[in-house]
Amino acid sequence: MRQSQQLIPTLKENPADAETASHRLMLRAGLIRQVAAGLYTWLPLGLRVIRHIETIIREELNRSGAQEVLMPVVQPAELWQESGRWDKMGPEMLRMQDRHARDFCLGPTHEEVITDLFRREVHSYRQLPCNFYQIQTKFRDEIRPRFGVMRAREFTMKDGYSFHIDQASFDATYREMYDCYSRILTRMGLEFRAVEADTGNIGGANSHEFHVLADSGEDVIAYATHGDYAANLEKAEAAPPGPRPAPGRALDRVATPGIETIAEVAAFLGLEARACVKTLIVAGTDGPVALVLRGDHELNHVKAQHLAGVAVPLRFAEEAEVIRAVGCRPGSIGPVGLAVPLYVDRDAAALADFACGANTDGVHLIGVNWTRDLPLDPAQIVDLRNVVPGDPAPGGQGELAFLRGIEVGHIFQLGRVYSEPLAARVLDQNGRSVVPLMGCYGMGVTRLVAAVIEQNHDAAGIAWPPPVAPFDVHIIALNYGKSAAVRDAADDLHAALEARGLAVLLDDRDERPGVKFADADLIGIPERVTIGERGLADGTVEYRRRKDPDSVAIALDTIAAHIAGPR
Ligand code: ATP
Ligand code: MG
Repeated sequence: MRQSQQLIPTLKENPADAETASHRLMLRAGLIRQVAAGLYTWLPLGLRVIRHIETIIREELNRSGAQEVLMPVVQPAELWQESGRWDKMGPEMLRMQDRHARDFCLGPTHEEVITDLFRREVHSYRQLPCNFYQIQTKFRDEIRPRFGVMRAREFTMKDGYSFHIDQASFDATYREMYDCYSRILTRMGLEFRAVEADTGNIGGANSHEFHVLADSGEDVIAYATHGDYAANLEKAEAAPPGPRPAPGRALDRVATPGIETIAEVAAFLGLEARACVKTLIVAGTDGPVALVLRGDHELNHVKAQHLAGVAVPLRFAEEAEVIRAVGCRPGSIGPVGLAVPLYVDRDAAALADFACGANTDGVHLIGVNWTRDLPLDPAQIVDLRNVVPGDPAPGGQGELAFLRGIEVGHIFQLGRVYSEPLAARVLDQNGRSVVPLMGCYGMGVTRLVAAVIEQNHDAAGIAWPPPVAPFDVHIIALNYGKSAAVRDAADDLHAALEARGLAVLLDDRDERPGVKFADADLIGIPERVTIGERGLADGTVEYRRRKDPDSVAIALDTIAAHIAGPR
């Protein structure tokens, strides 16, 4: 492929609004251009990377027995009403009407459509298990599209859905998908980690996310230093605290005028933040709800949203609502005598002699003890907090430590969350009609392009891992237009490598060497051959791997054999 005939609009300067390396480099190397917020055109170089990733995904999914289908982007409201998600989904789902005023949406995901296909076409246990996938455009009206294609509004996802007659079959396919995802990411040369995850608004029980490790990742992964426990911070748990010590002090009231935050309270009372509790008032489905945490701990919003009676999405009460419900301003709330439903984090419930607000402005209590000074039902004790590095890991696996990751894949055990409301049924071995179990498996194809770049770049540009690189070899022909010797050598090498099945980009442009080298570094093709008159006079060309610092001189007549190619 001749570079002079390809649209590869490289940029010398860093675009001002691109915050992450991958976003900057995708713009600078001419892979993408933004059309509107969260909407991108993929240019030839970027599209070639997508195609390579799709090929790896298809090969591994086909190998694991999944079958490819293609469902529409536009989906009728009726299916979403059947599952109950038409009202649940919120503004992330883009809705529209056709000319007959019928409601539709742009598919953010495809559980409803696949379950509809299944219930119409599959009727017997003999046809199970079955595992369908597609590689298709999704639309999610993300509140804050950012980092380029990493969090876009329109993006490509590989989504897959499996159906099972029993738990054993379900578990086997889930395990196979887990292994399949691991193979896909390994083939792409990525450093990744599979972690336990929350199931979000897709629903279901068991779920794992696959994270590409990167400091720029939006997700925090907590992992055990001595064991295999790893979970998204949204879901991660520490080992439960030990038993609560016996009360050692009497309850007392202390005037704390103008003292509001935990840091101020702790300093004023001469305590550590961990000896205080904080009480947060959030909106509930039936009036306000109070959440109690140790002073040094942060509320985990995802865990809070799972509590019965807590409104989703989580919303903190305004000051006026707090005053109405509790009788004081937010700085003086406490659990003693609070007439609001209460949940208490496990670590807060394990405290003795703690300090808290007295539900009167400017007053705090010290020496407070659960059960002696206020009731505590075991059903109120829940895990509510974000874990922190150094927490004891569950199951005695050492401590928890943190890493940042980019979520590129997510697999769920949905169970009957969709098959039940959509009335999918099959006949089992005994002729009984049963509702099948269902799994779903997502992978962000376009997000993966960005994730690969986050792990494979340097100051000069992208350094593609060979399996996904847009081209295998970059031939830089210096003075191609004027030098017949260069032109002949470059064209011959181009033809020889293409005959070997390699994808070759030949820089035949009429540009200065400095411009060509800078562009080549930016574009990041794994192997590069520079052909110039000076070298040719000695019968040599320059060879450099993108990830090596220096080039080496290689005899022109052996260079073709010297090129490794993608494997
Ligand atoms: P996130 O937490 O990042 O919003 P999600 O949990 O909403 O992701 P899923 O519904 O599990 O994502 O979708 C499957 C995969 O699709 C994700 O693992 C991710 O790789 C990709 N994906 C999701 N949202 C986007 C987006 N806005 N832009 C690009 N890829 C996305
Ligand atoms: Mg999302």
